[in-house]
Amino acid sequence: MAVDPLIELRDVNKHFGELHVLQDIDLTVGKGEVVVVIGPSGSGKSTLCRAINRLETIESGTITLDGQPLPEEGRALARLRAEVGMVFQSFNLFAHKTVLENVSLAQTKVRGRKKADADRRSRELLDRVGLSAHADKYPAQLSGGQQQRVAIARALAMDPKALLFDEPTSALDPEMINEVLEVMQQLAREGMTMIVVTHEMGFARSAANRVVFMADGRIVEDRSPEEFFTAPRSERAKDFLSKIL
Ligand code: ADP
Ligand code: MG
Repeated sequence: MAVDPLIELRDVNKHFGELHVLQDIDLTVGKGEVVVVIGPSGSGKSTLCRAINRLETIESGTITLDGQPLPEEGRALARLRAEVGMVFQSFNLFAHKTVLENVSLAQTKVRGRKKADADRRSRELLDRVGLSAHADKYPAQLSGGQQQRVAIARALAMDPKALLFDEPTSALDPEMINEVLEVMQQLAREGMTMIVVTHEMGFARSAANRVVFMADGRIVEDRSPEEFFTAPRSERAKDFLSKIL
């Protein structure tokens, strides 16, 4: 691959008890690449994302970010989490903090920014995700789509090298899915490196450089969206696509 690698997994394995949830995972994500991860429920997609962010440990193999092994603990780990932002299905906003405070908090705590600088950056980012009018509201006053856009702004506020999205639109009502996907499309166009677990095949077709198909803890296919959607090679992928398309 011609692009510079940013995230690299080599021979990564993990079990949950008897369950071999990540099996010999090899994955390289280049700078500026958008990799969409799809696959049946339980195939290990969330565990893969969590392993990249060290929310899960791995038993063997290596994961590197920009050529550096992932830190185990302490301040280096906090920095890693800031460098690889994560956006979850459940938005995980602080309910008792305003939208602005939600976006500013980690900037002051992790990045050591002054509050005024953090707030200025937060307002820029809220503007970028179309929420400048909502800075002083509380999460519960926003729709699900708006809350997820706050979560994206919060992740961006750390100036991450990459963003991981784990089913960011799965908890949303249908009419809110597009407003979140549009923000993600925009980030993709701007060159953000992203790993996106999603069932939104329209997004995969239009934004992904590669589609990674997982089943039973393995990467079964890793190809361009055109190739994957028009001519999936594996029976598992054919079967999966026949159910969702
Ligand atoms: P996906 O995101 O593809 O649906 P997950 O990575 O969440 O899959 O889960 C993969 C498998 O690992 C599932 O069978 C799930 O039940 C199991 N699993 C996930 N987290 C844990 C855990 N903390 N302890 C035990 N089993 C788990
Ligand atoms: Mg999952």
